Amino acid sequence: MPYQYPALTPEQKKELSDILIVAPGKGILAADESTGSIAKLLQSIGTENTEENWRFYRQLLLTADDRVNPCIGGVILFHETLYQKADDGRPFPQVIKSKGGVVGIKVDKGVVPLAGTNGETTTQGLDGLSERCAQYKKDGADFAKWRYSICQQNGIVPVVEPEILPDGDHDLKHCQYVTEKVLAAVYKALSDHHIYLESTLLKPNMVTPGHVCTQKFSHEEIAMATVTALLHTVPPAVPGITFLSGGQSEEEASINLNAINKCPLLKPWALTFSYSRALQASALKAWGGKKENKKAAQEEYIKRALANSLACQGKYTLSRQAGAAASRVSLHL
Ligand code: 13P
Repeated sequence: MPYQYPALTPEQKKELSDILIVAPGKGILAADESTGSIAKLLQSIGTENTEENWRFYRQLLLTADDRVNPCIGGVILFHETLYQKADDGRPFPQVIKSKGGVVGIKVDKGVVPLAGTNGETTTQGLDGLSERCAQYKKDGADFAKWRYSICQQNGIVPVVEPEILPDGDHDLKHCQYVTEKVLAAVYKALSDHHIYLESTLLKPNMVTPGHVCTQKFSHEEIAMATVTALLHTVPPAVPGITFLSGGQSEEEASINLNAINKCPLLKPWALTFSYSRALQASALKAWGGKKENKKAAQEEYIKRALANSLACQGKYTLSRQAGAAASRVSLHL
């Protein structure tokens, strides 16, 4: 166990505390799909995998009109995207900041197979992480996904993302059990490394039954299992929990988030979204790789941003007209 000493100075804590990502009605757009994942996404809409195509698509999301500003508190980017520019020459971080958003960066380098295991993987990217974080901070990033203490030392708020995949036929109770085991281990590790919890966010899966579970559960049951798992494991010092959508359909992800916010249990944290697929699926489909569909795609994205903004306040009601990609999104990113 590391020796107990203050890992951050009061000035460092103040700098981190001033970075406000989560606020009422606001969540995060996760636009940090890796080069490999974005290739699969473009392939899914029959579009050529070129850097210009994904720059255009990201620009489309980042320049959606001001209706998204009160909904999106931050955007997580992938390394390449941090250095891309909009048509008007502004770097993407500047575009995000001009709309009141905080810039995030995915700092891990993906997973590789772990020898001697049954298909397990391990995350790459620890080497040189501190130097990369310092550079990302200079280049406009104020929060990051993946690693904790090194981020905080460099003035970057870490988003801790332990994801339990929904693959399989397990029921709700089993997902709750595994989620609690994982979150308990995560917070033990954060404690061991003296992480300043007040300047972290947690990005977990919601507690849901496996995708091919035959038993059906209501949104209220999912909400109750999710908040219970969080209450058992996440300290109230953590300011916000920003769920990933984990392959839920856009509507499912909004309705479940809404139910979580209406759940009649103690909820000492902000409970909001950090969605990739559940914010983008309809937009991607509407775009279809064609420049002339930009506006239609932006409208789909705005629709989901507004829906989730309501859902994170417990004010969302099922939309009569679901987006173009209402069904479950199964592509794992
Ligand atoms: P989903 O919302 O699609 O699960 O993705 C979350 C995420 O972190 C993507 O980078």
